[in-house]
Amino acid sequence: MYIIQIGSECAPVIKAGGLGDVIYGLSRELESQGHTVELILPKYDCMRFDHVWGMHDAYINLWVPWNGDRIHCSVDCGWVHGRLCFFIEPHSPENFFNRGYYYGASDDPMRFAFFSKAALEFLLQSNKRPDVLHCHDWQTGLIPVMLYEMYQYYGMANQRVCYTIHNFKHQGMGGSDILRATGLNRPEYYYDPSRLQDNHHFGAINFMKGGIVYSNYVNTVSPHHAWEARFTEVGCGLQSTLELHQTKFGGILNGIDYAFWSPESDRYIPFPYSAETFGDKKLNKKALREKLALEDSDKPLVAFIGRLDGQKGVHLVHHALYYALEQGAQFVLLGSATEPAIHNWFLHEKNFLQSNLNCHLELSFNEELSHLVYAAADLIVVPSNYEPCGLTQIIGLHYGTVPVVRGVGGLLNTVFDWDYDETHEPKDRNGFVFFETDQIALESALGRALDLWKLSPQLFETLAIQGMNCDYSWKKSGTQYAGVYEFIRHKFPALVPEEPASDPSASA
Ligand code: ADP
Repeated sequence: MYIIQIGSECAPVIKAGGLGDVIYGLSRELESQGHTVELILPKYDCMRFDHVWGMHDAYINLWVPWNGDRIHCSVDCGWVHGRLCFFIEPHSPENFFNRGYYYGASDDPMRFAFFSKAALEFLLQSNKRPDVLHCHDWQTGLIPVMLYEMYQYYGMANQRVCYTIHNFKHQGMGGSDILRATGLNRPEYYYDPSRLQDNHHFGAINFMKGGIVYSNYVNTVSPHHAWEARFTEVGCGLQSTLELHQTKFGGILNGIDYAFWSPESDRYIPFPYSAETFGDKKLNKKALREKLALEDSDKPLVAFIGRLDGQKGVHLVHHALYYALEQGAQFVLLGSATEPAIHNWFLHEKNFLQSNLNCHLELSFNEELSHLVYAAADLIVVPSNYEPCGLTQIIGLHYGTVPVVRGVGGLLNTVFDWDYDETHEPKDRNGFVFFETDQIALESALGRALDLWKLSPQLFETLAIQGMNCDYSWKKSGTQYAGVYEFIRHKFPALVPEEPASDPSASA
C-alpha cells in the first residue's frame, strides 16, 4: 500500500511530545512491513534541521488557494532517519511556521487549517495519489473534510482516511473565517450538529469533530482510552459524536521504535546494557549523577520526564519529588511547562532545592538528556490525570526503569501492578499502579516500589527485567494499522456528499 502520514510533528526533527514519536515509529514499522510511506509536515523555522539528511527542493511553485487569493509555497524534501518527509513552507506575510515555536499562537487554528489545505494541494498538484492518508490530531482534522467535500471532485475520489486522535483536550476551534479561507465556505451547511459545529459552542466549528465525522476510520491511542473517551468526560465534549460514529471508532495502542529507544544501542547513553547485562545499568546512574552533580550513594533514583501541565498531574509530580526525598531516594525531573504559572512554580522549587545533592530539576526539553535519565533511573513516575497512551512508561519499561503510574488510559493497558494485578501472572507484572488522584494514593504505590528496592533488591531486579521483556514495539500495532488501511481501502464506501460543496474551479 501507499500511505501518506500527515501531521504536525515527526521525531526527532519536530517533537513536542509523543505525537512525534508515534508518527516516526509507525512510519518506520509500516515501511519494514513492505508498504510505501511518505510524510507531509510543516517546515518550521525551529525544527531540528540536523536530523534531516539530503534536504532539497521537491516542488518550488505550489500555489495554495487561500482566502479568495493564493499563497505561494515551496516544498522541500529530505530523509529523517530514513523516512521520506515533505516539508511545506508558505511564503506569506502571516509567517505561519516561522515563529520560533511549534504551537501556542493565537492563530493556531488558521495556521494548521492552512497546512491542511496546502497538504491536499500538494497531493493534487504533484499527482500523488496514495491509497490512504493517515491524519493525526486536530491540526489535520480538516483534511478529511476538504477531501470529501472538495478534493474528491478534483480527482482524489479514491483516497481513504484514517484519523488518529492523540489528545482529546486540544480540538482546534474556529469560526466562519476558517471556512472562508479554506474555500469550504457555506457556513449554513457546516454549522450543523452532524458536521462541524462544536457540540457545546454552537458558534464555533470544531476541527477534531470534522476529523471524526468525515474519516473512514477513527482511533485513539489505547483501547482503554477509547472507552474513556466515549463514556466519560475525558472525551472533552465529543462523546456524543463518538457514540454516533462508534462503528468506525477504536483504540490502537502506541508502540515505541526499538531502533531508537533501546538501551543496547542508544547513542545518547554511555554504557549500553540489556536484560542479560542488567548490572551495567547502574553505570549510567553513576554517569547521570556526575553530569547533574548529584551525590553518589546507595539510594534509589526516581525520575519524571514529561510536559509539566494539568494532564500530567503536576501536583502529584510535585508531591512525588518531596515524598521521594523524604524516603531517602533521589529525584530527577526533566520537564517543560507552557503555562507560565506552572513554570514559575517549578522554577521556585528548583531554586529552593538548588543546594540539595539528591535532586535535580531540569526545566527544558532535552531529547539527549531524556535518554540518559531513562537509562539511569530505577523508577519513573507517571501520575497523569488522563493519559491517552503515554510513552514514558513504555520507554521506562524497555530501559528496566520500573513505572509507577496512575491507572488511567493507556497506562492501564501497559503497566500491571506487582502486588495486586489479578489479570496477569506474577511473571507478567511490570510496575506499580494507583488509582485515586490524592497524595496518599501516590505514596501507597511509590512507597511499595521504594520498599521493594530497599528490602528485596533481587526481586526489584526481577521486576525491572520483566518490564524489559515486555514487547511494546510497533510490530503488533503497525500490523493493526495496516489492517485498518486495508479494510478502509477495499470495504469502506466513500462519504459522498449530496452535492459538490463549492465550485471546483475555485481551487487548483
Ligand atoms: P505527551 O502527552 O507529551 O505526548 P507521551 O508520554 O505520549 O506524552 O510522550 C512524551 C514524549 O516526549 C516521550 O518521548 C518523552 O521522552 C518526551 N519528553 C517529554 N518531555 C520531555 C522533555 N522535557 N525533554 C525531553 N523529552 C521529553
